[in-house]
Amino acid sequence: MSSNPIIYWFRQDLRLSDLPGLAAAAATGRPILPVYVLDDHSPSDWQPGAASRWWLHHSLDSLAAQLCSHGGRLTLLRGDPATIIPDLARQIGASDVFCSMQYEPWARRVENQLSTSLNDSDAQLTPFKGALLWNPSSIRNLSGQPYKVFTPFWRACRSTGDPTPPTGSINSFRWHEASLRSEPLASWNLLPAKPDWAAHWHQHWQPGEHGAMLRLQQFLAESLSGYGDGRDFPDRQSTSRLSAHLHFGEISPNRVYHAMAEHKAIDPSADSDTDKFLSELGWREFSYHLLHHFPDIPEREFKQGFAKFPWSGNAQQYSAWKSGMTGYPIVDAGMRELYATGTMHNRVRMIVASFLCKHLLIDWRAGQRWFWDTLVDADLASNSCSWQWVAGSGADASPYFRIFNPVTQARKFDAKGAYIRRWVPELAELPDRYIHEPWTAPQNVLSGCGVQLDRDYPNPIVDHRSAREGALAAYAEVRGQ
Ligand code: FAD
Repeated sequence: MSSNPIIYWFRQDLRLSDLPGLAAAAATGRPILPVYVLDDHSPSDWQPGAASRWWLHHSLDSLAAQLCSHGGRLTLLRGDPATIIPDLARQIGASDVFCSMQYEPWARRVENQLSTSLNDSDAQLTPFKGALLWNPSSIRNLSGQPYKVFTPFWRACRSTGDPTPPTGSINSFRWHEASLRSEPLASWNLLPAKPDWAAHWHQHWQPGEHGAMLRLQQFLAESLSGYGDGRDFPDRQSTSRLSAHLHFGEISPNRVYHAMAEHKAIDPSADSDTDKFLSELGWREFSYHLLHHFPDIPEREFKQGFAKFPWSGNAQQYSAWKSGMTGYPIVDAGMRELYATGTMHNRVRMIVASFLCKHLLIDWRAGQRWFWDTLVDADLASNSCSWQWVAGSGADASPYFRIFNPVTQARKFDAKGAYIRRWVPELAELPDRYIHEPWTAPQNVLSGCGVQLDRDYPNPIVDHRSAREGALAAYAEVRGQ
């Protein structure tokens, strides 16, 4: 049996516990070299956005500190992993590279290239499952085809039994001792500088495995009960806020899944809340299933009929949408929350996305790109599938003709306007009756609240009724083709 060192190649799995590849490496008793490679090349069109880079910096910092507390050192390198890792393997005499599977098309390409180049030097790459509950290629319908509808997909996943329970922490590692060149994290310039728009983000987030575990515990203790109903209300702290931790692999989905199952066993009254939460994790799995089987889903309409949709929105409206100046308070609140914190509540994501595609007739890819740059949880699978879902072109999508009325949505899910008042402070004084549609408020009410429309806050950039008719006409055009 080999006693050569093993390289553990960290990717989107920035944790030490319940990480099957790392556990397997530790179990061999061979020395391990932990490495992260910043790859500026392979993701080409999908380099991490600004918010993701902020998160990545802090997550790597946290992982390096964790490794240090176990006596190890994270080697940071920059370039093409398919070249850098074989060079490193030759340098230290490693015969194995372990890692977690990643499902983005570029990541699979890099894995294949690395595997080939390692084989040339008598080393081998072994990817382990670590980011998903189920392997996306193993879930198939009775005809052996991938699922295109969520409910039967999720039923099929669950029918295979519970996913593997999380493993405990590894207490002793044996590290490869040689001192190797490692780049300083700060030299990668992942953090914003001038201006530092993320200066206060540590109030909202604690990237890293420790932060992820705290988030999970807090969610279980404070918000899981009532999640099923509460998750739709943006002013409540009812959702887990785990998505970025899951995206960067700071916590395994298996750990989250089993924490829910244990909670259910202790508190059977939480049954429907835990099931609802698990089905949301299921949407994450479904997005990866779709990306795995239909790798062009980030770029092309899943339903081909939508490829010729007559998008006609303009740059001025796109810019008003991005900066939260559309004149629809719920849309503007969401867009401003996104810019200020790197996230947006799921219900509001659906409202702003529908507004972009259906009221402004702007291509879903423009919205997907803005989210990619600004979300801390920006995730190729979930972002692309969710945008296509809202636009009507995706698998199991919301029907195109179901057009959210932003005022009705806001009245339903933010009845007293608490969320709007927080993110659109210029409207904070308006009575509940007008907070969702300030343009209907009498002049004396507006001036009594210190608001002059088009000076302090815009009039709506489009009229809901005519925008709705325009959207339905555009839809009829593609349907008629
Ligand atoms: P919770 O309600 O606590 O849900 C638990 C977990 O389930 C989440 O952390 C997430 O991993 C998963 N999840 C929940 N809803 C979905 C969903 N609809 N699709 C896939 N996974 C889901 N989610 C991302 O992780 N990354 C994205 O880039 C992303 N882009 C989106 C774009 C649009 C237009 C829309 C409508 C939704 C998008 N979502 C995305 C899905 C969803 O909004 C977020 O996962 C959720 O808001 C994260 O908050 P949470 O962790 O508190 O969610």
